[in-house]
Order: sequence, then structure tokens, then C-alpha cells
Amino acid sequence: MKYDYLIVGSGLFGSIFAYEMNRIGKKCLVIERRDHIGGNVYTEKRENINVHMYGAHIFHTSDKRVWEYINQFTEFNNFINSPVAVYEDKMYNLPFNMNTFYQMWGVKTPSEAVSKIEEQKREANISEPENLEQQAISLVGRDIYTKLIKGYTEKQWGKDCTQLPAFIIKRLPVRLTFDNNYFNDRYQGIPLDGYTAIIEKLLENVEVRLECDFFDNREHWENIAEKIVFTGMIDQYYDYRYGQLEYRGLRFETETLDMENYQGNAVINYTEREIPYTRIIEHKHFEGSDSDKTIVTREYPSEWKPGDEAYYPVNDDKNNSIYAKYEDLAHNEDNVIFGGRLGTYKYYDMWKIIDEALNAVDDEINK
Ligand code: FAD
Ligand code: UDP
Repeated sequence: MKYDYLIVGSGLFGSIFAYEMNRIGKKCLVIERRDHIGGNVYTEKRENINVHMYGAHIFHTSDKRVWEYINQFTEFNNFINSPVAVYEDKMYNLPFNMNTFYQMWGVKTPSEAVSKIEEQKREANISEPENLEQQAISLVGRDIYTKLIKGYTEKQWGKDCTQLPAFIIKRLPVRLTFDNNYFNDRYQGIPLDGYTAIIEKLLENVEVRLECDFFDNREHWENIAEKIVFTGMIDQYYDYRYGQLEYRGLRFETETLDMENYQGNAVINYTEREIPYTRIIEHKHFEGSDSDKTIVTREYPSEWKPGDEAYYPVNDDKNNSIYAKYEDLAHNEDNVIFGGRLGTYKYYDMWKIIDEALNAVDDEINK
């Protein structure tokens, strides 16, 4: 065997695994089917602005180990994500906080806001939320659910909110303070030189082959290394033997505009069902670039079909139980390690991917 590890995918998971193994003298080969490294965190410098090519990526974590680890490879700015939502002719602060409650109902104190939410929750008669709709109404009441959640969520996931798992909406904080920080985490920021610079450092001394799909020559790749680290789709790896997992697709439309400031914020969400995109991001506001142009990206959720880029796993009960069968197969593998969002079919943020990659490295070293 020519290599100790064949790493399929150059996203955060694959790159960290390769870096750490290379550091202790293991021979690694990374193959990547796209024409660039970095997976979905990939950024490209245009007009002196780091453009997030696969949607807004804001780094946030409360995990000190992860924060210190990633800071070896970059410096972060002090960006705090404070998206604004547009519904019909009004704008609302996110996440759901006293500013939102004031804008929605004119309430000025936390106790007035709590009364309003409780009243709407009582009217809906929900004791144990069983789906996203019930969970959302229990958290923030029917008005906010109807105006800021229902349309956005249904276009994002292509399903009715009554058919979606509650956990998706629990990602968002609900606060009784005037605080528009989208995340509760201790650490947050955007890497000063973009995410691609981090991945370049991780893969600096590792052999990488771009535009190489594992499945185009599976037999060859399976015989090139002692072990495989697989960060692609786990159902595809097992030839869909228990059926296909569902994913959600996305389409990005990016344009450069001949103006300094288009929308005045990094992220603006469009929560009406009828508007086909979910959000517009204006990249320069992530980093305060002084470019005299600006670059914006509209994010359109889309149906996913085999062959399309899979962006989000759909972690409902049906798909999770199919995944559990693949996971059983994965546990019995001696020479294949599955990792990352697609390899473990999990809606993980970047910090969690780093945590998982470092754990996988520890497991490997201590075997
Ligand atoms: P990926 O980045 O998907 O990397 C997998 C790589 O494997 C890809 O490059 C792919 O091309 C390659 N690959 C797959 N199959 C094959 C194959 N058969 N052969 C060869 N190569 C293959 N997280 C945050 O913390 N904050 C955010 O603000 C945030 N925003 C996000 C916004 C969007 C729109 C999306 C989709 C995700 C967001 N995330 C965010 C999550 C973040 O992108 C992931 O946590 C992280 O990128 C996952 O890394 P990964 O290595 O698991 O997967
Ligand atoms: N969400 C919403 N309205 C918004 C923003 C988010 O209803 O304006 C819901 C939606 O269901 C979304 C979930 O909250 O899928 C999680 O939002 P987040 O911003 O974390 O999504 P991501 O960045 O992962 O796409």
C-alpha cells in the first residue's frame, strides 16, 4: 500500500484529519471531487472581499479546545452575526429577542413579552411539541411563527412545518433581552484571511488531487491506502443498499454590484414563502472590507436529486432510521472511518466538525 490514509473530501473534517496524521509521520492522500479544496467553507477573494462561495459561514463555538485549535491557523475578527428578517414591508431583528417582540407587538418589557407568548401558546393548546410548528409556537407564539418562521422554514426544507423535526428551530436562541447576537456561544468571528487560507495551511504538506471522485475509480482508491477516511455520502458508499438518504439542495446566485453598500448588513433573511430565496448575504460586511464594490449572494433552497451537491441532511425520523442501518455497517468496518456532515449524516456546524475530527484522530492514535 502506497499510503497510510486515503482521505475522501478536502472539507474541514478531511483536512484536519490529514494535517494531524501527516504531523505524526503518516502518509496521506486527499482526493477531492470539486476543483478546489475546503468543501463548503471555501472562500474566494474577489474585489478585495472574501466571498463565501457556499453560503454564509460564521464561526462560533463555546468549546475552548476547538477555539484554540483553529486559532493556530488563523486570526479571527470580532464579527457578531445579527441578521435581520424582512416580512412584507417590515424588518425584524433576529434571533427572537426583545427587539423582535417590540417590533412585532409593541411590548417593551420582558414580562409583557412573556405574557404575549404564553397567551398565544395557550390558544394553540400545545403541551408537548411534536413537530417544528408546535415547537415554534411554544417558543415564540403564533405571530412570530407565521411571519418569521413558517414561510422561511417551508422553503428552506421543502416540507410543511408539521412534517419537520422540532430540533431545527431549537438551534435559534430566544431571549428576553435586547440582544441581536444570533449565537449564544462564547467565541465567534470570521477568519481574517478567509476560510480557504485555513484549509491551505492544513493541507500544506499533504498530497491532494482535485477533480477526483472516489466513485469514478473505487477499486483503485480502495487499494491505495491501509485505511480510508470517507467524508462523502455514507449511503452512496454502501451503494444505497438500505435506500437513499434525503438531502436538501441549494443554489447560489452571486453578483458584483457597482456600489459600496447594498443592504447594510451581512445577512438579511426573506421570510415570505413567495420570495424564492431565503437570504441575501453581502460578503464585505463579514469583514469590513473597504472595497468600492460589493458582492451579494442570494441563497435559493432546492430539491435534491442524486448527482446534485448535498448541502443539508434531512434528519427526520424516516431518514435517521435509514442512517442508523448504515451506521451499523460503519461500526463494523476496521479500515474505513466515516466523518463530517455527509459521512455521519448530521446537521453539524463547523466547530462540531472540528471536534469530531480531533476525536477521530485521538481514536486512531490510541487504537
Ligand atoms: P464538506 O465541507 O461538505 O466537505 C466534504 C468534501 O468532500 C467536499 O469538498 C466534497 O466535494 C468532497 N466529496 C464528497 N464526496 C466525494 C467523493 N465521492 N469523492 C471525492 N470527494 C468527495 N457552520 C457554521 O459553523 N457556521 C455557519 O455559519 C455555517 N453556515 C453554513 C451555511 C450553509 C449554506 C451550509 C451548507 C453549511 C453551513 N455550515 C455552517 C456548516 C459547515 O459548512 C459544515 O459544518 C462543514 O463545512 C462540514 O465540513 P465537512 O468536512 O463535513 O463537509
Ligand atoms: N429559521 C426561520 N426563520 C429565519 C431563520 C431561521 O424560520 O429567519 C429557521 C429555519 O427553520 C432554519 C432554522 O431556523 O432552517 C435554523 O436556522 P439557521 O440560521 O441556523 O440555518 P442554517 O444557517 O443552518 O441554514
